Amino acid sequence: MQIYNTMTRKKEEFIPLEAGKLKLYACGPTVYNYFHIGNARAFIFFDVVRRYFEHLGYDVTYVQNITDIDDKIIAQSIEEKIEFHTIADKYSNAFLEDCARLGVKKPHHQPRATEVMPAIIAYIDELVKQGYAYESGGDVYFSAESLPEYGSLSGKKIEDQMAGARVEENTLKRHSADFTLWKKSKPGEPIWQSPWGEGRPGWHTECVVMSQQYLGETFDIHGGGIDLVFPHHENELAQALALRHKPLANYWMHNGFLNVEGVKMSKSLNNFFTARDILDQFSAEAIRFFFLSKHYRSPIDFNREIIEESEKAVSNFYSSIKQLLLSQSKSYSDLKAALAIDPELDKIKLEFDRSMQDDFNTAKAVASLFDLNRIVRSDAQDPAFRLKAAALLVNLGEVLGFFGKLEETLKDKTPDLSRQLIELIISLRAKVREEKNWALSDSIRDQLAALGVEIKDGKEGCTWSIKG
Ligand SMILES: [Zn+2]
Repeated sequence: MQIYNTMTRKKEEFIPLEAGKLKLYACGPTVYNYFHIGNARAFIFFDVVRRYFEHLGYDVTYVQNITDIDDKIIAQSIEEKIEFHTIADKYSNAFLEDCARLGVKKPHHQPRATEVMPAIIAYIDELVKQGYAYESGGDVYFSAESLPEYGSLSGKKIEDQMAGARVEENTLKRHSADFTLWKKSKPGEPIWQSPWGEGRPGWHTECVVMSQQYLGETFDIHGGGIDLVFPHHENELAQALALRHKPLANYWMHNGFLNVEGVKMSKSLNNFFTARDILDQFSAEAIRFFFLSKHYRSPIDFNREIIEESEKAVSNFYSSIKQLLLSQSKSYSDLKAALAIDPELDKIKLEFDRSMQDDFNTAKAVASLFDLNRIVRSDAQDPAFRLKAAALLVNLGEVLGFFGKLEETLKDKTPDLSRQLIELIISLRAKVREEKNWALSDSIRDQLAALGVEIKDGKEGCTWSIKG
């Protein structure tokens, strides 16, 4: 397995610290708002990394933090006039909900920074005692100059940062490259007691403490978006090197940016989309397909037309399998049981693994799914062979996080035309309701009920089911 390591700027053979085990950390959200579609790219990508190692039989431990104390959370709590921990709870629940909707498997540990506060304070205290950090006016700073290796991950030199020192406003720092470990609280801000007075920790210390607490002093892979390389990951690493004299992670993986029509997404440009917005317009698997069709390190341009294409590709996989099973009177469990060794199909499987093991080239891996889909759809092929191809399509698709709804879809015996007609009637009824014609609306509901179609009006619109 080859992995591109940001530390060495090249692809390297992956050698786990412990045979058969993977210890993976990827930075989670700062919970002050709904996460955006660029964050979704990272969450989905590291979910695929985890799934692929599990597919290879690795015993995986995946840790993702939730940053629930930060300047941005405090600013949002002032804006919404709600206490900071209520803001953190609100958006941390929203984060978990949206990840579940995106089909992201829950990490094994999802610690929140405020849960590990004593460990964070002890860590900073040790850095001060060992001479790598200093207290200044109630803040604590890491002294970048104290660590010769500082800058090794991002390639940024301390001297280069001196050049930017003119714009530096913080006079409490000894050097412009120094970064905050502990921040003195202003009146009205949340506080924790520390040897340096009342305050709160910096984000870089939160992550290094949480990762080492669950994964040990050195672990296999540390991941996140490319924007985190500097300063966040550089500063996490600096603290670990200073205290333990060991690398924090053996491989650093970073996914590329997401742009919207070629420009960076930003609230001021009005091209900012939350994952929630997009999930209301497209299926989770179409969004996943859109991201995985591109190499994770390449920048990606958010484009509705391409997601629509992805939606078609995903529903084409579903309908190929559905039609094949219908034509052979097979069930979901027959499909699962059909996974078998086959010299022809094994070539495609091998190609899929080759792509994935070449630094997670999911774009090529997705092409293998298309190869299988062509066999599934081909009438010229032997029926048993087509069923085996469908079984492999589902098996490999699941490794990438697809087919989460397949079993449920296959259970639904409503023929397509009936489904479309029911949905048409319901949409016409919605218009009747907009016009407040309750008598007609109720009559449509009762007539549908007489045909065995039960409809329910809820907050999120109307849902229906077939009785019996
Ligand atoms: Zn982090």
